[in-house]
Amino acid sequence: MEILTHPNPVLKQHAMDVDIAHDSDLRALVRTMAGAMYEFSGVGLAAPQIGVAKRVIVFDVEDQLSALVNPVIVERADETVTDEEGCLSVPGISVPIARAEWVVCNGVTLEGKEVTLRADDFLARVLQHEIDHLDGVLILDRLDLPERKEAIKAYNAVNQSQRLG
Ligand code: ZN
Repeated sequence: MEILTHPNPVLKQHAMDVDIAHDSDLRALVRTMAGAMYEFSGVGLAAPQIGVAKRVIVFDVEDQLSALVNPVIVERADETVTDEEGCLSVPGISVPIARAEWVVCNGVTLEGKEVTLRADDFLARVLQHEIDHLDGVLILDRLDLPERKEAIKAYNAVNQSQRLG
């Protein structure tokens, strides 16, 4: 199992909506994504991170595996909370990211049922992070220029030394 890492261009793509009724690969995709998420001890994963440009996310907050297809944030708090955030596609660093305190998210389950999810705190952060992936947005893209330069320097240093063993 491989998770794509920055600067893989697939991570910058805008993922496509899924046609649930006609997508026979969806269950297998979600199984693969959940497997990768647990293998790498993540709390969420988006399909582009395993190279599939479809709008599918999985997450496990509070020991509950959930999958959401075509998720859309339809409402968000004006208030933001800034916290350190990491990403399996930007391994080895964490950076402070401001996220809406709560969000309301529409999406479709694997069974084709439309759902509305109101999420606060950490789950709100996870949903915003994973939905960003569907739009080709990484945590690095959420930083201002000086912060971003600093983060990329740290990322390159960490991943360079890993390559050297
Ligand atoms: Zn991520």
